[in-house]
Amino acid sequence: MFPRVAFIGIGLIGSSLARLMIRDKLAGKIIACARSKKTLDAVKRLKLADSVTDDPAVAVKEADLVVLATPLSANAEIGKRIAAALKPGAIVTDVGSVKQAVIKDLRPVLPKGVHLVPGHPVAGTEYSGPEAGFADLFKDRWCILTPIPGGDAAAVEKVKRLWEAAGMKVVAMDAAHHDKVLAITSHLPHLIAYTIVGTASGLEEALKSEVIKFSAGGFRDFTRIAASDPVMWRDVFLNNREAVLEMLQRFSEDLTALQRAIRHGEGKKLEEVFTRTRAIRKSIVDAKQA
Ligand code: NAP
Repeated sequence: MFPRVAFIGIGLIGSSLARLMIRDKLAGKIIACARSKKTLDAVKRLKLADSVTDDPAVAVKEADLVVLATPLSANAEIGKRIAAALKPGAIVTDVGSVKQAVIKDLRPVLPKGVHLVPGHPVAGTEYSGPEAGFADLFKDRWCILTPIPGGDAAAVEKVKRLWEAAGMKVVAMDAAHHDKVLAITSHLPHLIAYTIVGTASGLEEALKSEVIKFSAGGFRDFTRIAASDPVMWRDVFLNNREAVLEMLQRFSEDLTALQRAIRHGEGKKLEEVFTRTRAIRKSIVDAKQA
């Protein structure tokens, strides 16, 4: 599919895609770039790339496809560092969890004739780093592309085919819409999980040990989400402020309504809400996204 592919950032997401491209022979050569020797050594040991470098400009030289798979806060700087080294006609795509910020950071710095195709494979785990990746991570999940209006349609099609080859269902939408949808489906749930687990960790020692012991009561499920990478999630919240704050406002209002229902013993109201939410779980299971 692509003679030469450069991964800038090769942790959970980058290494999963690299594994898939190697397994299914979708790339001629793969060059991986990361900051630390530890990550680059792991990439070599796991044979995830033909060569490795800590210099993004070296990695993208002659690349037909450049995949940015770093935390969102790294994009602007990396964009500046790779701009002059990109070959004309190269496709630059990314996997970031927020899309307007990626476009804002990369679009102004990439040269004319290089095609930016922002993307977000909606698949992941709470683990990080190249050891955590696996080729089937994307299978049967959705990938959202947020093409630049007036951008190169052939480049979008190529990126679409790549994610389809990874087993994903691909949909295109406006970047602002993406950020709103993900604020409720992903960002707010993470914020809530971080809050609950944070609250528990602030409890006095005696109670804290009981929290761990009896975690199967529900707490445990939140700890999985709250174990997600701190840097990645710091960046998500800082880069999708508006949409997250809007969803948080709605959430707070709904929480207050439930609080009221509990205070006033309105069982019917509680049952109604919980019945509605159970139906949502069923539709996710039916859609094979559970
Ligand atoms: P990860 O496992 O932590 O890997 C991040 C990679 O980026 C590492 O190779 C790291 O290299 C490199 N990196 C970090 N900071 C950098 C910098 N300032 N300059 C250059 N390279 C840097 O992260 P991930 O989970 O794959 O996430 C990557 C992206 O995918 C994020 O933008 C995230 O929003 C998006 N995403 C994540 C998930 C998920 O569930 N994790 C799902 C969908 C999309 P070193 O190890 O050498 O620092």
